Amino acid sequence: MVDSATEILLPKEDILRRVAELAAMIDRDYAGRELLVIGVLKGAFIFLADIIRALHIPSSVDFVMISSYGSGRESSGSVVIKKDIDALIAGRDILIVEDILDTGITLSGLVDIMKKRNPASLRVCVLLDKPSRRTIPFTADYVGFSIPDAFVVGYGLDCNEKYRHLPDVRIFRDPESSYA
Ligand code: 5GP
Repeated sequence: MVDSATEILLPKEDILRRVAELAAMIDRDYAGRELLVIGVLKGAFIFLADIIRALHIPSSVDFVMISSYGSGRESSGSVVIKKDIDALIAGRDILIVEDILDTGITLSGLVDIMKKRNPASLRVCVLLDKPSRRTIPFTADYVGFSIPDAFVVGYGLDCNEKYRHLPDVRIFRDPESSYA
């Protein structure tokens, strides 16, 4: 099952330690407030579950699913919501939680869409950041780990819907893929 994903990049212990640090920063920044945490399906579901359980401030949770198109040369307008959140966000403090920031297309498009709904504040938390892959300038407010340009799976991240259950983040090397 883990044949193409044998190389551990981030062991689960390191991930959980970093999640606790991120949650402590978020607790500090939002002290006395209440957060609506919006997870980006599907990849962020495990990270979100760990983050909200490490938070001490009150939070509610919603999810969004999006498709992004294009190679990175297209604008952030190429993001389409496939499943919208149920919650109204006007006037609320919003934290978008995403698994990985790669080209920046998905998050810059999603942030544009959500900002039009007039939240009181909007920040972004990502577990992983691949800065060398960016085609649209985008900086997340909370970043778990900056990683090199490799395709990773595990801890919610998939390859064709497999490997999400792995507790560590692993480098995926498919002998058939040019990404290997
Ligand atoms: P962006 O729009 O920033 O290029 O891409 C964000 C999305 O691409 C992520 O939410 C994720 O679904 C996918 N993605 C980017 N890099 C990786 C990776 O290394 N592994 C996996 N599993 N997904 C990735």
